[in-house]
Amino acid sequence: MVSDGIATVGSRFAQTHDESVDRRDANRAVAVSAVGLLITGGVELALAIITGSVALLGDALHNLSDVSTSAVVFLGFWVSKRPPSKTYPYGFERAEDLAGLGVALVVWLSAVFAGYESYRKLVGGEGTSHLGIGMAGAALGIIGNQVVARYKAVVGKRIQSVTLQADAKHSWLDALSSLGALIGLIVVASGRTWGDPIAGFAVTLFILHVGWEVTREVVHHLMDGLDAGDIDAARDAACAVSGVEAATVRGRWMGRSLLIEVEGQVAARTTIESATSIGAEVAERVHDAVPAVRDVRFIPAER
Ligand SMILES: [Zn+2]
Repeated sequence: MVSDGIATVGSRFAQTHDESVDRRDANRAVAVSAVGLLITGGVELALAIITGSVALLGDALHNLSDVSTSAVVFLGFWVSKRPPSKTYPYGFERAEDLAGLGVALVVWLSAVFAGYESYRKLVGGEGTSHLGIGMAGAALGIIGNQVVARYKAVVGKRIQSVTLQADAKHSWLDALSSLGALIGLIVVASGRTWGDPIAGFAVTLFILHVGWEVTREVVHHLMDGLDAGDIDAARDAACAVSGVEAATVRGRWMGRSLLIEVEGQVAARTTIESATSIGAEVAERVHDAVPAVRDVRFIPAER
């Protein structure tokens, strides 16, 4: 396809069998983990209301925030399947980033809420009741996150998914937040009522961390932030094609699809036909060099 001197070649939407099986396994791991955390967070929330524990409240909000980020990933998959339209010729994949901004807002608000409730309880000196079931709720938070962490780590290692392994580490660290809530309740049991609100502040820090991570990731995507290593690899791959003297590489994100634009210098009087075949080879090599790439655009420029 040639239009306005820009050749678009090398769309490779078809996945090999192994890749699609791995993706399905990864999706299942994310979905199962989200359901596990949803139950954990839901039970914690109910127990937080019964006991009046702000640390448990914060921990519940944290777990539910993590569930909502997973939900956005699935929403993104679902929305991005819609074919491009005349009004949205690039498709609907950015809907995921838009939903991500919504999630970020909810996470920041829950941090403010948990922090404010902790402050109110610390100043007001209100007590915490039913300490036993409160501690059981915090213990559930530890166990829930640890189980999810192990599961993601095992699947992540098997299919060699860096994202899933990083996610496993996140869940492992989240067990520390639940541990904080448990310690707070133990301190309360020893007669010091400030134990719970102080633990509530510590848990609030964890929620702020989630807010920061989610916001940073969404903004990075919306600003078309790329890995410098990917840009270098794409340029090297393009320059390895015979006929390409030098190349300038840029990239943009469409949701989770990476579009790479290669402006390659070719000899003067190169025919459109050979420029197109050079472009096809550039696209193929860039696809191999940068696995995240969905589409490559080759723009021939005169040397
Ligand atoms: Zn978390």
